[in-house]
Amino acid sequence: MTRRIFRSIVLTAVLALLLTSALLVGTLYNVYEDRISAELRTEAAYIVRGLDMTQDDLSYFTSFKPQNRVTLIAPDGSVLYDSDTDETRMSSHAQRPEVLAAIESGTGEATRYSDTLSEVTIYYARRTADGNVLRIASTRSSVLGVFLSVAPQIIVMLLAVAALSLLIAQHSSRQIVQPINELNLDEPLENDVYDELAPLLTRMDKQHHQIRQQMQDLARAHADLNAIMESMREGLILLDRESRIVSINHSAQTIFGVKDSFAPGADLLTICRDADLLEIVKAAQSGEAGDAILPRDSRMYRIFASPVLREEKVRGVVLLALDISARYAAEASRREFTANVSHELKTPLTSISGYAEIIESGIARQEDVPAFAGKIHAEAKRLVALVNDILELSQLDEKQGLGAKEPVALLPMLNELADRFLPVAQEKGVELSVEGSEATVDGYPMLLRELFHNLMDNAVKYTPAGGSVTVRLSQQDGRLCCSVQDTGIGIPKEHQAHVFERFYRVDKSHSKQTGGTGLGLAIVKHAAQVHQAQVELESQPGEGTTVSVLFH
Ligand code: ATP
Ligand code: MG
Repeated sequence: MTRRIFRSIVLTAVLALLLTSALLVGTLYNVYEDRISAELRTEAAYIVRGLDMTQDDLSYFTSFKPQNRVTLIAPDGSVLYDSDTDETRMSSHAQRPEVLAAIESGTGEATRYSDTLSEVTIYYARRTADGNVLRIASTRSSVLGVFLSVAPQIIVMLLAVAALSLLIAQHSSRQIVQPINELNLDEPLENDVYDELAPLLTRMDKQHHQIRQQMQDLARAHADLNAIMESMREGLILLDRESRIVSINHSAQTIFGVKDSFAPGADLLTICRDADLLEIVKAAQSGEAGDAILPRDSRMYRIFASPVLREEKVRGVVLLALDISARYAAEASRREFTANVSHELKTPLTSISGYAEIIESGIARQEDVPAFAGKIHAEAKRLVALVNDILELSQLDEKQGLGAKEPVALLPMLNELADRFLPVAQEKGVELSVEGSEATVDGYPMLLRELFHNLMDNAVKYTPAGGSVTVRLSQQDGRLCCSVQDTGIGIPKEHQAHVFERFYRVDKSHSKQTGGTGLGLAIVKHAAQVHQAQVELESQPGEGTTVSVLFH
């Protein structure tokens, strides 16, 4: 700033100085030149008059003003007399413009510059009475010469001007800059400075407000986005073009086992090296969205990778991780179920087909036919039971054909079921009783009947003679509890967690004897789930089993 002010002051001052000097020298010189011309004219007139009157030696006239050169030239141009030089050595002056003009019209004038242009000679010629030409010349400094002669003074003045300009510039710039340096930029309108700064400060204040408003909006948007990202159950990771993590939400940190102190900027490879994942990230970086399955800590995730496009260029990649463990497990159990169903159906069908073939081919003795027919009947009954259970389960899976929920009185239902099992129990020598007071639940009667039928069926089936089965309705911690307790063979601890799985049987050979399919408890678990009820199993091998259904 100081330099710029200094430069403009110096430039203005130098220009002003030079112009003034030039104007002054020029004007004065003009006046001075006019006076010389006039003087020459007067002098020439005097000398010519003198010559005409006295015919004296010319040197007499020239001695009055020796600084002027006087020359007398004959009409043919030869020099007759010269006050400065020996006239005999001088060349013809016939072609000098002032001489020509004087011969022709009586007077002539001319001005000629020296070689260096620093001097100028003014000539004045006048014809004498005898036809000669008298010429008087005066040599003076030219304008340039005059100017050059005052140049040192001008330079000294210029230096003085420069020094003064520097001081003024420093002072002015300090006066301009200092208030600016001391401005309170946080509160622009609070400053008391010179008027020229007012528009700037007003604009700054306006921009301050705008920036503050934009910052607030940005912070709010950022907070909203953060809240959404952090409350998402899905894992979300934002990568830049070089696969560096720009942002990672809490769920993704948990999935990838990243610490809370994780600093963004790390490469994706530092948290995961799964080949499938890296492949979909690479594809997304070239603009193609994709997905992959990622097993992680006994859970299954589906990861979606999408390119982030801006102006049709990939700027980064978004990774979204969904926990599909439940769906994956369901899928696996469905596959397992189908395989089991095929196997379970094949076994009775194979033996039915075998016995039927023996009878058909006539190999069987007549007296064995009823026994074979009995076996076919038993296997067919097992098949029917199996198909019924499978249908029941698939209905429960699809939650179809359940109808509407209704209040179900449990005590009459349990008594009715007990009545049905009584003959079997009595035949086995097992005591069967129902205890408790009336209780009603909101549910599907068919399903509840199926549930308790299966529990009572198991209790009677797995209790040897002399044992007892007690069905009890009670209240437990404010919840309705219906338990089926037996004093039967019990379930070993290692099997307890599995008996609710489809087709799971503790003792396969025994189950086969009793005609069990291994679907009973699976139906119980499912039916309880439909009623938001909890199933608890307590069992001691050799002592007995209690299965409780707790309703909400
Ligand atoms: P299904 O009931 O389908 O005809 P199942 O009784 O064998 O066949 P589940 O009712 O699902 O099948 O029972 C699974 C297994 O759990 C049984 O095979 C049996 O080994 C064991 N189990 C179930 N209830 C009892 C019980 N009250 N006492 C002892 N073991 C039991
Ligand atoms: Mg059963």
